[in-house]
Amino acid sequence: ASGNTLLRDPHHNKGLAFTQKERESHYLLGLLPPVVISQELQEKKMMYNLRQYQIPLQRYTAMMDLQERNQKLFYKLLIDHVEELLPVVYTPTVGEACQKYGSIFRRPQGLYISLNEKGKILEVLKNWPHKNIQVIVVTDGQRILGLGDLGCQGMGIPVGKLALYTALGGIKPSVCLPVTIDVGTNNQKLLDDEFYIGLKQKRATGDEYHALLEEFMVAVKQNYGEKVLVQFEDFANHNAFDLLAKYSKTHLVFNDDIQGTASVVLAGVIAALKLLSGSLSDHTFLFLGAGEAGTGIAELIALELSKQMQVTVEETRKKIWLVDSKGLIVDSRKESLQSFKLPWAHLHEPIRDLVDAVKEIKPTVLIGTSGVGGTFTKDVVEAMASFNKKPVILALSNPTSQSECTAEEAYTWSEGRAIFASGSPFDPYEYDGKTFYPGQSNNAYIFPGFGLGLVMSGAIRVHNDMLLAASEALAQQVTVENFENGLIYPPFKNIRKISANIAAKVAAKAYELGLASNLPRPENLVEYAESCMYSPVYPNYR
Ligand code: NAP
Ligand code: MN
Repeated sequence: ASGNTLLRDPHHNKGLAFTQKERESHYLLGLLPPVVISQELQEKKMMYNLRQYQIPLQRYTAMMDLQERNQKLFYKLLIDHVEELLPVVYTPTVGEACQKYGSIFRRPQGLYISLNEKGKILEVLKNWPHKNIQVIVVTDGQRILGLGDLGCQGMGIPVGKLALYTALGGIKPSVCLPVTIDVGTNNQKLLDDEFYIGLKQKRATGDEYHALLEEFMVAVKQNYGEKVLVQFEDFANHNAFDLLAKYSKTHLVFNDDIQGTASVVLAGVIAALKLLSGSLSDHTFLFLGAGEAGTGIAELIALELSKQMQVTVEETRKKIWLVDSKGLIVDSRKESLQSFKLPWAHLHEPIRDLVDAVKEIKPTVLIGTSGVGGTFTKDVVEAMASFNKKPVILALSNPTSQSECTAEEAYTWSEGRAIFASGSPFDPYEYDGKTFYPGQSNNAYIFPGFGLGLVMSGAIRVHNDMLLAASEALAQQVTVENFENGLIYPPFKNIRKISANIAAKVAAKAYELGLASNLPRPENLVEYAESCMYSPVYPNYR
């Protein structure tokens, strides 16, 4: 045993918090200055240092350095300052980090699987230092956030997402595995960049692409068993839907861009109903944007409706309309529609513009998932406000610059009547003497608790009913006080408690559906979830 090894091991390092006794018994004497400080003081010092940085990317690098130096302190910071640090380790800063990943790259984080590793993926998995893996987040880097194809530099996303799995959902860091699959990139800027870290070739597609993914998925199951959760992240939509459909039959897979988004938005809609009157079936939905987010949300709303109304999903889909870049999705366009849009091609005259679709369909809920900013114009919002007492307007496109409208616009154009939430955060806004608090439909509300629920029950498949259970659990966490402020999501600072509640509901559903393998079922699932959650408190080394 060497003290130096202990200091270099991020899982066990406590830095200046090693006690005198620990220093004596673990060969640390002389390797540290004499002072012994508490984890709280270390935390205070780190936060002080972080706040000195004016450039977001510097904060990101400082956090990544901390993660590699002292993992417990990293998670303590992230948990205790979640609202402040989430934008640092995740969107928006992680996006910038991915764009510059080549030049800020220091030590590899996560597993890189490229076309070079074809035929050897099982070996690659065995190179990872941890054997017991429960959650994998994998990307192929083709659609990183709203930034497009970042190829191999997408690695920042699985790394960041798994940090949130641990901080917000309590999944142990050692059971998390970030993976980037590198089949090339079509981003010419990266191909020309001398610091680019990935394969310098155009993306492999078709059989070559699918064969590599198939080898990966088979190797994962062979190496980690049936209960490992594989989360697909930031794949382009033409692959995302196919991969999810294909592997949900044989693996425990989850796509956050499709399913996680759907669950968090449905939760917001369910909560918004408490601010309105009536039930979900009284509503008509119109989407701008019919991609992963839009059709994912639409499908889950249709499913929830079908349960409530006791009719088929085919029937409830009729209450939901989508507009894509070519206008309203209608049956006369069927020939040329991608398959994931077909269920939404209702019988109707073609309509080109959103504002005309709004006037014609008269939705009560308008949802923006197009990635295009400013598309909820004054005309659109005024139309919504003309036939709805309280129009529900969700402007989900990220980042802030792409939001369909701002909070200010939604509130002023609707004369303070809109129930508004967005993908990117907006500050509270005062209108006519009243302060309005826009909600943020952040996927981080759902996926960490959802994953914990799957892991703790030993679920072997994801079922859509589990997504509904997660939505209901989240909506239930919105308090009367939150509602009085116009919020349809609970404050983020209670996220660990929220996650435990979501996990319990998801696990309960897994047991009910016979998809759970951790038997017997624990009696109190909330308590059990909390007992499973990773804590960043230092242990005492004897
Ligand atoms: P996607 O799969 O690429 O889908 C984009 C959709 O928008 C496509 O249907 C596209 O039409 C449509 N579109 C593009 N430009 C348009 C225009 N000018 N007018 C009307 N429709 C247009 O992307 P995604 O993964 O669904 O993400 C979309 C947006 O949602 C992103 O900005 C993302 O940040 C946001 N999002 C937010 C959350 C959240 O708030 N929690 C979660 C996930 C995603 P075509 O099909 O005709 O090309
Ligand atoms: Mn994503």
